Amino acid sequence: MDFELEKILRPHILQIKPYSSARDEYTGKVGVFLDANENPYGALTGEAFNRYPDPYQTDIKDKLAQLKGLHGTQIFLGNGSDEAIDLLMRAFCVPGKDNIILLPPTYGMYEVSASINEIAIKKVELSEDFQLRTDAVLEAADAFTKIIFICSPNNPSGNKMDREAIRKIIRSFHGLVVVDEAYIDFSDEPSFTNELSAYPNLVVMQTFSKAWGLASLRIGMAFASDKIIRILNLIKPPYNISGLTQQKVLESLAQADKIEAIVKKILTERIYLEDELDNLSFVLKIYPSHSNFLLVKMDHARRIYEYLIHDMIIIRDRSKVILCEDCLRISVGTREENEQLIESLKRYEPIIKNL
Ligand SMILES: *Cc1c(COP(=O)(O)O)cnc(C)c1O
Repeated sequence: MDFELEKILRPHILQIKPYSSARDEYTGKVGVFLDANENPYGALTGEAFNRYPDPYQTDIKDKLAQLKGLHGTQIFLGNGSDEAIDLLMRAFCVPGKDNIILLPPTYGMYEVSASINEIAIKKVELSEDFQLRTDAVLEAADAFTKIIFICSPNNPSGNKMDREAIRKIIRSFHGLVVVDEAYIDFSDEPSFTNELSAYPNLVVMQTFSKAWGLASLRIGMAFASDKIIRILNLIKPPYNISGLTQQKVLESLAQADKIEAIVKKILTERIYLEDELDNLSFVLKIYPSHSNFLLVKMDHARRIYEYLIHDMIIIRDRSKVILCEDCLRISVGTREENEQLIESLKRYEPIIKNL
């Protein structure tokens, strides 16, 4: 399908005159800086936090561009992936008029963000095995549908979506397709960033919150065409990534070669958890996972969730979520944490059996 960005963009966006910050108007790094009303004496912590940070996070993007085989102009950084989700909706969806398509069961923030922005939601359930029902998705799209969100590997089901099915949706839909790859580092599936040059309506999201272990810093990535990234940059708050975050992300990226070993360790622990859970009589099904968590169907799921809380072990109750009936979602922990969970579950096994 021919894709024209201007046709799906909210018309007023093109008229916006961007905020021009001090750091936009003078981009040099040396000099006497009396242009941004900062405190020249520094911060009480004795650290260099008194100057506004780079609004476009150029150093991080240079590094990421290398790492991902992209251009810096194809990268947007947000205050968590959540900011990218929100900005995409605000740029493309007219409140009270446009809609987006969600594929439940999936990540909750798409719906929250749409509701805040007064954007209608069309839901097309995944199949029983959590795959895309491609034809149903495309049939649900109407003239006011602006974005389809596909989460792969999916949260909370953990599986990856069929690649050809994703491609078919991208090719057949007139609006944007967002592929949320928050868990891609835990999958053997290659990233859709490799296909950005083929699809002008594709946005790929990743995050530093999972494999990179930086959830507290709040930084997410969106990869797309230069044109789409320019729009996100136009409407974002000028200094959306703090200086401290930029500094820590750069430190992490300088050691990017170590991520693979950490991911491997988590995957080994996932196998350990799977094996141990499989031995429990009340475990009915462990869904195949391409992520750092397991979706597990159990007898008396809610009871088990509450037993675990009693033991100060907190997992996620997904038993009321569509297609996840009787399921709990368990994040992979350290060996010690995983052992604690399993020991606790073993202690409850006789009680559950007698229910
Ligand atoms: C955890 C998660 C994210 C990450 O969100 P951040 O705002 O970057 O922390 C994004 N998408 C999905 C599906 C997730 O599960």
